[in-house]
Amino acid sequence: MDRNESQYRYDKYKADWEKKQAEIFYSMHLEDCWFKERYDPLLQYKWQMEKKAQALPLAQKFVEFFVGDQTCRGLNFDQDPSIDYERLGEKAISISGEPFFGFDANQMTLYLKNIPVNVSRWDLLDVLKTTQGFVSLSMSEPLKAQNFERIAWITYDTDANCQLAKQVLEAQYVGDYRLCPVSNQGNRKGVMITPELPDDSAERDLKKCEKLITEVLDVEKEIPATIQDQITEYANRYLNKTQHLDLLLLYLRKVHSYCFYCGEEYDDERTLAAKCGPAHLRNSSKITRFMLDTPNWQTSKQFEDKYLKAADERVAKGPKEIVSPNDDPVLQQMKEQYVNKKTHILTQGSIYQCGACDKKFKTSEFVYKHFFNKHGDVLDEKFNRSRFESMMNENYHNDPKKMINQPGFAAGPQSREGGFRGGFGERGGRGGGFRGGRGDRDDGRGRSYQDYDDPSRYQGQIQNPDRQIVSYDDLF
Ligand SMILES: [Zn+2]
Ligand SMILES: [Zn+2]
Repeated sequence: MDRNESQYRYDKYKADWEKKQAEIFYSMHLEDCWFKERYDPLLQYKWQMEKKAQALPLAQKFVEFFVGDQTCRGLNFDQDPSIDYERLGEKAISISGEPFFGFDANQMTLYLKNIPVNVSRWDLLDVLKTTQGFVSLSMSEPLKAQNFERIAWITYDTDANCQLAKQVLEAQYVGDYRLCPVSNQGNRKGVMITPELPDDSAERDLKKCEKLITEVLDVEKEIPATIQDQITEYANRYLNKTQHLDLLLLYLRKVHSYCFYCGEEYDDERTLAAKCGPAHLRNSSKITRFMLDTPNWQTSKQFEDKYLKAADERVAKGPKEIVSPNDDPVLQQMKEQYVNKKTHILTQGSIYQCGACDKKFKTSEFVYKHFFNKHGDVLDEKFNRSRFESMMNENYHNDPKKMINQPGFAAGPQSREGGFRGGFGERGGRGGGFRGGRGDRDDGRGRSYQDYDDPSRYQGQIQNPDRQIVSYDDLF
C-alpha cells in the first residue's frame, strides 16, 4: 500500500466516522429548541421574516434621530489619540453617546441563564413582548458543557422599563423554566481600532457603503429607498465625505448589524457589539498609499483588502431571497408527480377525472388546477412534513460549523475537553485590527473566584483553538 493509498483510506475512515457522529448528534438533538431554530426550515423562515420586520422601524428611528435631530454632527469614527479607550469599561466615557454612539451591552439589559433545551426563542418572545418597552432578544449558542442550555439577553428602551420588566418577569414561567432575570453587569468589551489606513480611503469606502446599503442590504429587508435618499440629501448639504461615511458605517451597524471594517454581518446589534466591539474606529494615524516602505504597510494592505473583499462579495451575491419552505421546488415537484398520478384518464383527450373526489374535467390541466385548489390540504399533509424533515436533515449536514457527537465527552460543568463545534461565532474570522481597550478574551478575568451568576465563567468551557469561535465572554 503506497502513501497515497493509506492517506486516502485514512481520510475516508475519518469522513465516515464524522458522518456517523453527526448522525448520532442529529438524532440526539433534533427535538431541542435551539436545534430546530437553527435547522428547521419553517423556523428559519419565521426568524428571517422577523428580522426583516424589525429592520424598517430601526431604519426609521435611525433617520429620525441622527438626521432629523442632526445628532450625527457629533458622530466621529476616527480614533481620538487623547482618549484612553482602556477606560471605557469604567464608564469614563460614554459608549452610547458621542462620538461613536456604540452599543452598550450592559445598559437597559436583562440577562437570563440556564435556558433549557425545551424552551424556544418564540416561547420567550411571547412572554417578553408583553413587557413594556421591550426592544429585542438575543440568544447564545447552546453550551455543550451545560446540557446545551442557552443564555439570553433582553434589551429595553429605557432603564425604568428594564427595572420594571425585571420585577414582572421574575415570577414568570415558560413551562417549568422560571425566568429569574438579572441585570447585566459584566465587563464591557473594548473598542476596535483599525490598523493605519491609507489617507485616501474615505471617499472610496463611502461609495462601497452606499452600494452595499442601496443595492443589497436595504433591498433584502425591503427598506424603502426614501430612507437612504433622506440621508444622502442631508449629507450632501451638511456633511463632508468622512462624516457621510461615518453616518453610513453607523447605519450598517445599527440597522444591518454589519461592521464594514470587520466585513462581518450578524443577527443583531448586540451580537455585533460582542464580536467586534461597541465601535470600530479608524486609526488616528494614516499612511500614504504609495509609500510601500512604510513599516505597517503590509498589515494595512491586508486589512484593507479583507474588508473591501467582504463588501464586494456581498454586493456581487446580491440581496438574499427569503423563500418560504412551502415554495421549495423539490416539495413542489413531489406534489406535481402525485397529482399526475391521481389524474385518471377516462377518455384520452376529452375526459379526465380527479382521483381524490371523482370530479370530471375536459383536460388534465383542469384537474391539475382543481387538485391544488381543492385538495391542497391533502397534498400538504402528505408531503410537507416529510419534506421539511429532510430539509432539516440537509441543513444540519450541510452546515460546515455543525456540532457533532464527541464520544467520551462527559457533559457537566467539570468537563473542559474541547469538542465544542460552532460556538457563538457563526461566520468566524475576526479580521485584522487590534483592540484599543480591555476585553481580550484571554485576560483570565474571573478565574480567581467563581461567581456562578457571572456568564464569563463559561469561557473556559467552549474554547477551541481549532475554530474561530468567540467565547461567551465576548458578550460582556
Ligand atoms: Zn468591526
Ligand atoms: Zn377533486
